[in-house]
Amino acid sequence: MHLDLTPQERLFREELRDWLAAHVPRETPPKDRFGIRAFDMAWQRIQYDGGWAGIAWPKEYGGRGLSLVEQVIWYEEAARADAPDARCAFVGLYHGGPTLIVNATEEQKAFHLPKILKGETVWCQGFSEPGAGSDLAGLSTRAEIDGDELVVTGSKIWTSYAQVADYQELLLRTDPQSRRHGGLSWVICDMRAPGVSVRPVPMSNGWDSHLNQVFYDEVRLPLANVVGEVGGGWKVAMSTLSFERGTAFTARQMQIAKWVDDLIERARTRTGPDGRPAFGDDEIGRRLARLRAETAALRAMTFAAVARNERRQQPGPDGSMLKIHLARLSKEANQIARRLMGVDALLMTDEMEEHLYGFAATVGGGTDEIQHNIVAERVLGLPKSY
Ligand SMILES: Cc1cc2nc3c(=O)[nH]c(=O)nc-3n(C[C@H](O)[C@H](O)[C@H](O)COP(=O)(O)OP(=O)(O)OC[C@H]3O[C@@H](n4cnc5c(N)ncnc54)[C@H](O)[C@@H]3O)c2cc1C
Repeated sequence: MHLDLTPQERLFREELRDWLAAHVPRETPPKDRFGIRAFDMAWQRIQYDGGWAGIAWPKEYGGRGLSLVEQVIWYEEAARADAPDARCAFVGLYHGGPTLIVNATEEQKAFHLPKILKGETVWCQGFSEPGAGSDLAGLSTRAEIDGDELVVTGSKIWTSYAQVADYQELLLRTDPQSRRHGGLSWVICDMRAPGVSVRPVPMSNGWDSHLNQVFYDEVRLPLANVVGEVGGGWKVAMSTLSFERGTAFTARQMQIAKWVDDLIERARTRTGPDGRPAFGDDEIGRRLARLRAETAALRAMTFAAVARNERRQQPGPDGSMLKIHLARLSKEANQIARRLMGVDALLMTDEMEEHLYGFAATVGGGTDEIQHNIVAERVLGLPKSY
């Protein structure tokens, strides 16, 4: 096992660092959903034109065809360079596209993957429903097969960026007699198709909401939009969730690691009410040291997972460990940041927004409790709890 980077990976890092220094946008990213779409797509296009999009995606669809290690180096360097987050580009880049790479037909891949990498299309995820979140197999949005079309009726909720999305990963029931995991299909839904309507879910603090409820009123979609087998959607959905939980938040991990270093620096230089550097406060010092160690442990876990993922098509259930750990570290970093902010913690700064959003990280993509169950049953092999 090689624990160091190869000469090729080191060269990749150096070239990438130079490129990012010259190309990362420096303007403040917008906060409204339409501004976010324009900003994300423009930044994605810059990456594509520079030859830095889809590092580990196949070359024939516009990617670089490099290894997952180089993909992680990309995330590390992007965090170091303060490159913008993928916000509405998240689903397409981090789990929609990867799901297509593993499960879609050549036609589906050739049509969609280059558009995602070029920043031409935004994807959203239509899995959760008002009556089915953690219990995804209990979903009731359905489609009847009419000739070579699906006719979709039902509703999805918590669909991030649905208002600005072009396509959706839509999981629905195609066999009316089926129960639970059987008879589901994973379908590419054109968000502009007649009968699709999107209603934003207001945020309690009045922010421009990126969460939505989506309604389908006899929406006609080509049967050719099914990814995988008709009725075999559960397997494809598990593939999507394995990417969402296993690799989608790698960029976020790298950002947290950089942020922890920034917090340590801030604690060294910022003084508390007693005039001493905050670092001298035993509790802050202890918590920061622990957080720094745990961030390093998460990085090591990520590289171990990357090594495993190089040998399989998609991440396994062990990805849930990364998600749980990341959400916990993110909350702890937020709490320490608020302690260091002093009275500024009362203002709605970007860091305060980050703090509030930290709670959502333990729910989106599957709650912590569900991830714990997955680790217990599918990684540790413990008996089911029910
Ligand atoms: C910011 C954000 C963005 C999101 N974006 C999307 C999106 O784009 N697309 C999408 O489809 N969904 C999205 N979601 C929805 C998300 O996937 C669900 O909220 C999540 O799966 C939980 O489902 P639920 O809200 O119905 O809660 P429930 O399933 O009702 O869970 C309620 C509570 O019960 C616990 N619980 C439930 N079942 C069990 C069990 N078996 N064992 C132990 N505890 C259990 C849960 O952990 C939770 O604490 C998003 C959520 C958030 C917060």
